[in-house]
Amino acid sequence: MKPFAYIRVTSLQEAAAAYASHPGSRYIGGGTNLVDLMKHGVETPDALIDLTRLPLRDIQELPTGALRVGAGVSNTDLAVHPLVRTRYPALSQALLAGASGQLRNVATTGGNLLQRTRCPYFQDVSKPCNKREPGTGCAARNGVHRDHAVLGHSAHCIATHPSDMAVALTALDAGIELYDGEHGTREVAAADFHRLPGEHPERDTVIRPGEIVTAVLLPPAAPGAVSLYRKARDRASYAFALASVAAVLEIDDGRVRHVALAFGGLAHRPWRARTTEERLTGAVPTDEAVREAVDAELTAARPLPGNAFKVDLARNLARDALGALVRSASGAPPARPRP
Ligand SMILES: Cc1cc2nc3c(=O)[nH]c(=O)nc-3n(C[C@H](O)[C@H](O)[C@H](O)COP(=O)(O)OP(=O)(O)OC[C@H]3O[C@@H](n4cnc5c(N)ncnc54)[C@H](O)[C@@H]3O)c2cc1C
Ligand code: SF4
Repeated sequence: MKPFAYIRVTSLQEAAAAYASHPGSRYIGGGTNLVDLMKHGVETPDALIDLTRLPLRDIQELPTGALRVGAGVSNTDLAVHPLVRTRYPALSQALLAGASGQLRNVATTGGNLLQRTRCPYFQDVSKPCNKREPGTGCAARNGVHRDHAVLGHSAHCIATHPSDMAVALTALDAGIELYDGEHGTREVAAADFHRLPGEHPERDTVIRPGEIVTAVLLPPAAPGAVSLYRKARDRASYAFALASVAAVLEIDDGRVRHVALAFGGLAHRPWRARTTEERLTGAVPTDEAVREAVDAELTAARPLPGNAFKVDLARNLARDALGALVRSASGAPPARPRP
């Protein structure tokens, strides 16, 4: 591993100043992704700025009923928080579906949002990769791409974003609070935080150099809204999503008042299913209406030779998830799980 400086900070201002004097540096939260990438030589920062002593480890309920989650809150603490479990089950379920207990104890909210793709060619410095080294090519396109994107990919990159938590935040209309020493604080919608690859796959998000994720803001949960997260993966113990879905639903007088659906594992960012949402809003949510709305979204899929199965997987996950939420929002007993 290349030698690097290590800087411990206790305030946001100190962190921003440390970045300004070490422009090639990286912030570090739990280190569960960054340190691995440094060991592989994918990340080679001159300095690490340790954020773990910043006062960003609280989960606060605001007077509006919104929840403010500090960027330093661990994935475990967030998943088990009583208000998260009761008001935002999709978020709790997504976190618990990710990584392992030990990793979740260390991994932070900010670091989880900014973790890098698990594309194996990105992690292997002997292979061409436009995300790691712009202009070198994409080894995955004609290589092994079973786990890669079916939606929104480009000629430059077909990687997927790996975070389960980010998919739930996207469906829950969360906001991401960012800080830098020069511009102060701004908020970006979780749905707009991650980017599609386009011609610049090296940029995963809209974050500016040196900006710090300070908090995630969850809007007040509407009374009667139900939500869930479902994930399909290769094995029951920890594994990244082949496809996943987060869904939120409110039904009023037999019709859909609000629906939000986001897919994980299918694109370079959590994929907000706006077409499905438009078709279902105001409709009576019959099985047929749900099927048509999900199918309409997935007509945008452009699978690669090795991963067409993901489209069917996502379709079935979304239909099942919405069906379960319709039953739950209507007060009907849940369907028996499939054998
Ligand atoms: C074996 C294994 C299995 C896993 N399985 C899953 C899974 O199934 N699902 C899943 O979602 N994840 C999974 N993960 C990923 C894991 O969730 C992430 O590694 C973790 O959430 C990253 O958080 P961290 O605090 O350790 O980030 P770090 O490694 O500290 O940082 C990650 C990135 O975020 C930046 N950063 C960190 N904090 C901030 C901040 N506040 N502001 C600005 N930049 C910041 C760092 O500079 C770095 O670029 C797995 C990881 C491993 C090792
Ligand atoms: S899919 Fe993206 S991350 Fe993977 S090799 Fe191609 S450019 Fe790199």
